[in-house]
Amino acid sequence: MSARDTVCMAKIVIDRELCSTSGQCAYMQPDLFRLDDEGKPQPISVEVTDEVLAAATEAAEICPSQAISIVD
Ligand code: SF4
Repeated sequence: MSARDTVCMAKIVIDRELCSTSGQCAYMQPDLFRLDDEGKPQPISVEVTDEVLAAATEAAEICPSQAISIVD
């Protein structure tokens, strides 16, 4: 198995309808999320590498609207 085969292919998915613009994801994980003009987050990088998986998962867990998902 090559190193490429071990890359996590998970992605960050944000449900903009559920998002209540609390801003917690961008505040807690500024390397992963930035807020747009509507106060809703855009993932800085949609693809979740192994290095940022824990941070992305934490963001999903702290979101009060359960608007962030990490999907395979
Ligand atoms: S933490 Fe959740 S509700 Fe708050 S801005 Fe991020 S996605 Fe929206």
